[in-house]
Amino acid sequence: MTDRSFLKWPFFESRHREVAERLKTWASANLAETDHGDVDKACRKLVSVLGRDRWLEFTAPGEGKNERIDVRTLALIRETLARHSGLADFAFAMQGLGAGPISLFGSIEQRNAWLPRTRTGKAIAAFALSEPDSGSDVANIATEARRDGNGFVLDGEKTWISNGGIADFYVVFARTGEAPGARGLSAFIVEADNPGLEIAERLQVIAPHPLARLRFERCRVAPAALIGDAGEGFKIAMTTLDVFRTTVGAAALGFARRALDETLRRAAGRHLFGAPLADLQMVQGHIADMALEIDAAALLVYRAAWTKDMGAARVTREAAMAKLFATEAAQRVIDAAVQIHGGDGVRSGHPVETLYREIRALRIYEGASDVQKVVIARSVLSTVEH
Ligand SMILES: Cc1cc2nc3c(=O)[nH]c(=O)nc-3n(C[C@H](O)[C@H](O)[C@H](O)COP(=O)(O)OP(=O)(O)OC[C@H]3O[C@@H](n4cnc5c(N)ncnc54)[C@H](O)[C@@H]3O)c2cc1C
Repeated sequence: MTDRSFLKWPFFESRHREVAERLKTWASANLAETDHGDVDKACRKLVSVLGRDRWLEFTAPGEGKNERIDVRTLALIRETLARHSGLADFAFAMQGLGAGPISLFGSIEQRNAWLPRTRTGKAIAAFALSEPDSGSDVANIATEARRDGNGFVLDGEKTWISNGGIADFYVVFARTGEAPGARGLSAFIVEADNPGLEIAERLQVIAPHPLARLRFERCRVAPAALIGDAGEGFKIAMTTLDVFRTTVGAAALGFARRALDETLRRAAGRHLFGAPLADLQMVQGHIADMALEIDAAALLVYRAAWTKDMGAARVTREAAMAKLFATEAAQRVIDAAVQIHGGDGVRSGHPVETLYREIRALRIYEGASDVQKVVIARSVLSTVEH
C-alpha cells in the first residue's frame, strides 16, 4: 500500500532503488516484533542482526580509499526501518552518529580500530555532546579535558546520551580551552570500561530506548583518543550533525508513511453511517493533508541528502529545513492518524499510539525545531546584500 513512487525521483540512482527494495523485504521478514520488553537486550539484538545482514555497512565508510557515507542511502534505510520499528531505526542511526566523528575526522588507526566493528554490529557506538546545562547551547559545554602528562583527564557530566549503558565506546566532547566558547572544545573516544566513566543514571522516556546520564571523574585517556586536532570539537560535532540531521527527517518520514498506511487501511475497512469511513469528506481532507505533508517532507529530506552526496561541504540550511519540516509534519500526520482511529488510536500498543510516542523526541534532539528555525533564518539573512 505504501507509496513507492518517490523512488523514481531524480535524486536516486539504481543502487538506491535496489537497497530500498531489498530492505523493504528484509524488514517485513525480520522486524515483526513490537513488544521489546527489555530495551537494552532488544537494542543489542537489533544491532547484531543489522550487522549480521550487512545493513550497518552503510553507517560508516569501509576501508576503500574513496569510500564515504552516502546520505541518500542512510535516509532511505532510516525511513524504511522507522516504518517498521522505531527501535530498529534507532539502533541503525546511532551506529552512524556515534561513529560519525571517527568516520569523518578520525585517524587511520582510529578508523581501523572502530569502524570495522561498528559496521558489523560488534561494537555499539554513542555520541556524547549534551550536558545538563548545555543542550541547545553547545558552546557552553562544561566537561573539561585537562592535559596531564601523556594524555588527557576528563571531568564532568553528559546527559540524554543514546545507547548510554550499552555502548562499547562514547565520542565525548569536552573543553580543552584553546579559545573561549565553541573554539575551545575537542572530541575524544572513551571506551565504556574506562574506570573514570560511570553510568550515573538510566533515563526513561515516552518511546523507550537505551539512554543515560554519564559521569566522568578523573577519566584518563591516551593522546590517541583525541579525534582530529585539539580545539576542533565544535566543528567535528556540527559537521557530523550536518550529515545525520537530514536522516532524522527521514526517520520522521518513515513514521509518517506508516501512519498514513494505517489510516488508509482503517478508513477503507471501518464502516460508519452505512459507508466506509473513507467516504466522509472530512476524512478525505485529512488524508489529502497527510499525503501532501509526506511528499513535501520527502522532497526536503532527499534534496538535502542529494546535495550532500553531490559534494557540498556543508548542507546546514538544507538539513535544518529537512529536519524541521519532516519532524513537524510527521507529528501532524500521526496526530491525524490517531484521530481517524478513534479510541483505538490511543490504545496502548496500537501502531498509531506507538508512532505518537515515537515521533515526539525527534522534534527536540539533534537540534530542537526552534533552533532549526534560527539556523534557517540566519542562513537566509546572510544572503541580504548591504
Ligand atoms: C530521546 C533523546 C535522545 C537524545 N540523544 C542524545 C545523544 O545521543 N547525544 C547527545 O549528545 N544528546 C542527545 N539528546 C539531547 C538533545 O540533543 C537535547 O535534549 C537537545 O539538544 C535540547 O537540549 P535540552 O534538552 O537541554 O533543552 P534546552 O537547550 O533547554 O532547550 C529547551 C527548548 O528551548 C527552546 N530553545 C532552545 N534554544 C533556542 C534558540 N536558540 N532559539 C529558540 N528557542 C530555543 C527550544 O524550544 C528547546 O526545545 C537526546 C535527547 C532526547 C530527548
